[in-house]
Order: sequence, then structure tokens, then C-alpha cells
Amino acid sequence: MSVIDFDTLGAYVDLPAHARRLLERSEKEIQCSLSLRIDADRLIEATCYVVYHNSARGPAKGGIRMMPTVTLDSTRDLAERMTYKASLAGIPFGGGKSGIRIDGGSLNRFEKTALLREFCHMLSLELNHGMYIPAPDMGTDASDMAVIYGRFERPEVVTGKPPRVGGLPGRNEATGKGVASVCDWASLRYLGSTLKGHSVAVQGFGNVGWWTAAFLAGQGAKIVAVSDVTGGLYDPAGLAWDELGRLCPGEGGLASVAGARAISNTDLLLLDVDILVPAAAGNQIDETVAEALRARLVVEGANGPVTPEGDRMLEARGIPVIPDVLANAGGVIASYVEWRNGKSGSITDKEDTYQVIERTLKKSWGRVMEMVKRHGLAPRMAAHAVSLREVVEAMKDRGWI
Ligand code: NAD
Repeated sequence: MSVIDFDTLGAYVDLPAHARRLLERSEKEIQCSLSLRIDADRLIEATCYVVYHNSARGPAKGGIRMMPTVTLDSTRDLAERMTYKASLAGIPFGGGKSGIRIDGGSLNRFEKTALLREFCHMLSLELNHGMYIPAPDMGTDASDMAVIYGRFERPEVVTGKPPRVGGLPGRNEATGKGVASVCDWASLRYLGSTLKGHSVAVQGFGNVGWWTAAFLAGQGAKIVAVSDVTGGLYDPAGLAWDELGRLCPGEGGLASVAGARAISNTDLLLLDVDILVPAAAGNQIDETVAEALRARLVVEGANGPVTPEGDRMLEARGIPVIPDVLANAGGVIASYVEWRNGKSGSITDKEDTYQVIERTLKKSWGRVMEMVKRHGLAPRMAAHAVSLREVVEAMKDRGWI
């Protein structure tokens, strides 16, 4: 099922039937079997998927998810979101994604490196030709991108690398930086004042969640709850960021922080807060959760954290949702700068990276809010209308439709 509501958007976007047919399915899908003999007792096997949703606007861009729950369908869904995210941001990438169906946590560093090298071997044509450009997603990080770089030794092959290995200063925190900026603008637009003093709950304490919380705390918001896959912490008076921030993204261990009580992931989603930022897995806010949700504003740090049914319920209840394609685009914007620098040899410092993210997102925010105002659309529908129009026009430019 498409992430786009083509029936509704047809009223706002000139959408030829052939464009819709192309966008309702993937442009290209690859499935391969990774298999690795570690020693006499250990064989590692994993299915891997690469999906190109649409490359009319540029090469397929999207992270590598390494989780046991990865499927072809979930990879398709994430690739499609990338098409509209890059289009809305106005960066010349198409939508892609890859998934390796294995629990990365069950592998030691050597095994993970060997598996990623096998991934590079299987996909050498795609990667070498720059048709698919990976980056980190759940279960992968900058050090994994350094492994991919090491197979090709061309910096533009992969983004999200460590800064010392052709990476971009500020890329690691780019998605969280963008989510926090969007929270600020959304807070002003929908809650009537800037972030200062607003209570925020963040689900997920990995790359996106940790950095979002860090920037929000720095901007004066009160982080009252955070969680990872093992559970969460809650303090209505605000969690002390000095202590919480010392926990590393992805390492868990939230239960060890003093001065806060434990909270389940479901209870975190139902807290009475100003802003809720789901920044973990997809499909966390279904119709039932949406019916009971008490936050005044939802900003999607994760990809697809709200189901279509949950979305309809939140809209009916008048709770605005700032969609993933807008809110978490900071990462792909920074990736574009990293990719461009890889090709040109330019370098960019952290402050410039932050500025590019802020400037690009602000432009997207303005275009989406204009659409919201003009047609009375919910932010998700408005964002999809703006980005879909660009993709359709690009397909016309390419002579595809
Ligand atoms: P990550 O692997 O660094 O962290 C994921 C976090 O979510 C961890 O804290 C994990 O414990 C937690 N988690 C996993 N399943 C959970 C569950 N069911 N309930 C609660 N917590 C759970 O991943 P990340 O890179 O931070 O990605 C998080 C989300 O943001 C994903 O949806 C990803 O697609 C999206 N995203 C990431 C980037 C990026 O640059 N990394 C960019 C855009 C969007």
C-alpha cells in the first residue's frame, strides 16, 4: 500500500494515470541472500533487499536498516518515503532503501563488518555506479558506513561516514537537529509559542531520539520522558539532561538513570505532554493509541510511526502531526552535502551543515504551511501534495510519462 493518498491528492496535483501507476509500485527491487561461514560452528545467513522506489529526480538514496523485522514490504515503504522526502527538500535524489534481515546486535564487530562487505560484494554494481547511495538507519551507524567506504574508496558511494573518513561534520546529529528545528516552528504555529518550557516525550533513544532530545533540551524544552526498546524513563518535572545525555545512543541502559521512574513505551506515547516525538520504529501510533493520545502536537522523528488509521484518528481529534517526510529530512539534506563534497572535494564545517539543514527545512516548512493555509489540508497531506507535484513534473521532464 502506498504511503500517498492518491485519491485525495488528485484534487491538488495534476496526476496523470500513468504517473500514479508508476508511483504505486517500486521502480526496481533486488533481493539477495548473504551467507558467511565464520568458523566450523557458525554460519551467518541473512536476506537482503534493495528497493528503488523512484529515481526520476536522481539516484536512489536511503539508509540500510539491519533488523530481524526487515521485510521486502517494509523496505518498499521506506524507499517510497525517501522519494517524497528528497523531493520536498528539493535535493536531487530519488527514493531508495535497503534492509538486511538480521539482528545486528547478535553479531560482533568482526562479523558485522564481514556481513557488510558481503553486502557490498552482492551490490557492487549498484554501489559502484552510484545508482543506490546508502546511509545509516536503524541497526547501522557511521562505523558501518566506513566499512562500505573501505570497499570502494570513493567518498560519494556512501553517506553518514565518520568525519575523518570523508564524512560530514554535523551529519551524525543532522536528523535530530532538523527534528528539533521543526518542533520549534510547529510549536509556534500550532501551540502558540516557541519551545521554551514545553514538555516533550521522545520515543527511541538511538541516533534520532538522542540528538532530538539533546537539541530540544538545548532550546529550553522540558524533556519529561525518553525510551528505548527496553522501556523508558519519566519525570514530569523534567529529566536532567546533564545525566541523561551521558547515555550513548543505541546502548540502552536507560533504567540506570536516577531521579526518574520507569515507564513503558506504550505509556510514554499516552503522556499528557505538549509535544510527542516518536523517533523509534514504525507503526507505533495506531488507531487505539491515537484515540487515547494526550499530546497536543506530534512530530515524526521516525519513518512512518503513525499508521494511516492512527493518522485519521489524530486528524479527527484535531491533533496536528508533522510528517516524517518533512520533520526528519535533516539527515538526507546533510547526506546530500556529504555526497556533493565527496564528488567535488569541498569541505563543510559543522556550523555550515547546521545552517544548510535549517535553511532547507525552513523552505520546505514554508511551502507546506502555505498549502495547509490555502487548502485547509493536514500537514501530511500538504507535504505530500508539494512533493508529489515535484516528482510528477520530474517524470515528465525525463519523458517517462
Ligand atoms: P537507531 O538504531 O540509532 O535507534 C533506534 C532506537 O529506537 C533505539 O533506542 C531502540 O532501542 C529504539 N527502539 C527500537 N524499537 C523500538 C520500539 N519498538 N519501541 C521503542 N523504542 C524502540 O535508529 P535511528 O537511526 O535513530 O532511527 C530511528 C528512526 O528514525 C527510524 O524510523 C529511522 O528510519 C528514522 N530515521 C533515521 C534517520 C537517521 O539519520 N538515522 C533519518 C531519518 C529517519
